[in-house]
Amino acid sequence: MQKVKKLPQRQCVGCREMKEKRELIRVVRSPQGEISLDFKGKKPGRGAYLCPDAECLRRARKSRALERALETTITPELYDELEKGMVNGG
Ligand SMILES: [Zn+2]
Repeated sequence: MQKVKKLPQRQCVGCREMKEKRELIRVVRSPQGEISLDFKGKKPGRGAYLCPDAECLRRARKSRALERALETTITPELYDELEKGMVNGG
C-alpha cells in the first residue's frame, strides 16, 4: 500500500478493487445520517466508494461492506434507491 500514484485511488466496497477515485461513485452519509449518492464527490460526511455498477452495489449489500464503511444500517428500500440512482445517474 506504499505505492505512490498521481491520481487518488479508492477501494470499491463491492469488488474490493482499487480504482481511480474519479471512476467510482461516492456513497455518502451526511452528518444528519442521510445516505445518498455523491456523483461529484463534494458532499460532506462519511463516504464509501463503489464502481458505477449495480453488481458492485449488490455485492456490497450482500457482504454488508457498505454498512460497515458508513457505520450505519441501510434498509432494503434505501439499497433499491441507491441502485436506481446509480443506474440513472451513472
Ligand atoms: Zn466494484
